[in-house]
Amino acid sequence: MSQLAGDIGEPPERAGRALLKEPAVRETHSMPRLSYEFDIESCWKSIPAWRAVSAEEFSDHQWQLRNSVSSLSGLAKVLGSRLSEGALEEFKRGMQTAPMNMRLTPYLVSLIDWDHPESDPLRRQFIPMASQLLADHPMHQEDSLGEDEDRVAPFLTHRYHDKALFLPTTICPVYCSYCTRSRVVGGSTPVRDKATYGAKQTAWEETFAYIRSHPELEDIVISGGDASMLRPDQLEEIGLTLLGIPHVRRIRIATKGLAILPMQVTSDDGWVKALERVTDFGRKAFKEVCLHTHFGTTREMSQWTVEAMKRLVGIGIKVRNQSVLLRGVNDTFGSMYRLVKSLSWLTIQPYYVYTHDMVPGCEHLRTTIATTEELSKALLGTTAGFNLPRFVCDAPGGGGKREISSYEYYDAQKGISAWTAPRIKPGRVFYYYDPIDELPSEGQAFWRNVEANGAVLEDERSRIEARIRSLSPA
Ligand SMILES: *Cc1c(COP(=O)(O)O)cnc(C)c1O
Ligand code: SF4
Repeated sequence: MSQLAGDIGEPPERAGRALLKEPAVRETHSMPRLSYEFDIESCWKSIPAWRAVSAEEFSDHQWQLRNSVSSLSGLAKVLGSRLSEGALEEFKRGMQTAPMNMRLTPYLVSLIDWDHPESDPLRRQFIPMASQLLADHPMHQEDSLGEDEDRVAPFLTHRYHDKALFLPTTICPVYCSYCTRSRVVGGSTPVRDKATYGAKQTAWEETFAYIRSHPELEDIVISGGDASMLRPDQLEEIGLTLLGIPHVRRIRIATKGLAILPMQVTSDDGWVKALERVTDFGRKAFKEVCLHTHFGTTREMSQWTVEAMKRLVGIGIKVRNQSVLLRGVNDTFGSMYRLVKSLSWLTIQPYYVYTHDMVPGCEHLRTTIATTEELSKALLGTTAGFNLPRFVCDAPGGGGKREISSYEYYDAQKGISAWTAPRIKPGRVFYYYDPIDELPSEGQAFWRNVEANGAVLEDERSRIEARIRSLSPA
């Protein structure tokens, strides 16, 4: 509950009034229109370099990977006259300071509206435009989630009691501007040196040994990087090894592949067969095997997505979705509602929507806690409860995922929220900071003071912590 209302003991009317919030998301009450027609046949025909590409070629994951665009010159070559001078210049300057390299599948390139790249929600996720960038928040961190602090084996982060995060690779089929692991994923850039690594089977034994020796670990998330970059034999080895450990009850395979390269599921028989063997093994062992994917908008969905999901449903694997809430991409009721309903239609369960982590290079993509809360509230009652995503803030510094309204304190003016995680890191207070440009002028003035004198923030935090202590049971 927000502590903005003041100390406990104030007259209820006053507390009640102070708790009334300005709506952060203004929408009419009519429901947005939906279409489940995921029909974008021949979308690639509008891309000059691919006009002569046949449907068969475009639907082949290998063709997609071979023709992925990983440089601006490559993009310019593919788009020809469809890429304006102005946009190219913006991208060039944007990439100079970007922590992430560029990598796009032809599928994505074809879905972007190149007549309006500045406002296109797909372009916004993958290629930065210089004029849209904002200075990083002074409290940003390369490892915002504190994953390195909780690392227990070479590729394993063990933060929560019964589940752990296994990162066998830090390579992906696309590179997202908003990547929370930009410190390791996707290779060095002009502004970042990274220790990116590919999947290496011989190096995983220490990680498996740790999991074997920790009987409380029932649930392993296989992420990265992206599991779609694992070879079929690697995917199978990880899956079967983990499911073969008696106390491991659940594994999830995290991949953005389904969203940005559905052709992997429709045409990479080796990979899908490996996934099927893992799924079958799990079913027979009475254990859960799921795929966790990452759609940001409905614009990433197509007839290939439908075909891919039919195949995954056919092999009996449950798919869930985790999105990052991104400014100008999916931060309105309409866009989030359409995403949730379309995922549900595809039999993908909307699982999480994360507030953007406080990593560098992404200030223009972050939203406030108020917006996140408002969106979460606006979705209530719109569809089946099990298809309503949980809006969470992964508390910076390793507090773990927290339900968006579970902060101990939130000052929307200064954009400071404080979180505790008694079951994970008892006694600690974690802070999330809203993007400064979204704050009212008083809040922006506060941060100018902080820039001039860091003690201002220290004082604020001490005051907040004293308040939290005074309100929590001894
Ligand atoms: C997200 C995450 C998990 C899985 O958490 P769920 O809430 O079960 O999805 C496990 N370990 C780490 C370190 C994580 O960040
Ligand atoms: S696919 Fe995931 S891990 Fe890879 S760059 Fe995008 S957000 Fe990061």
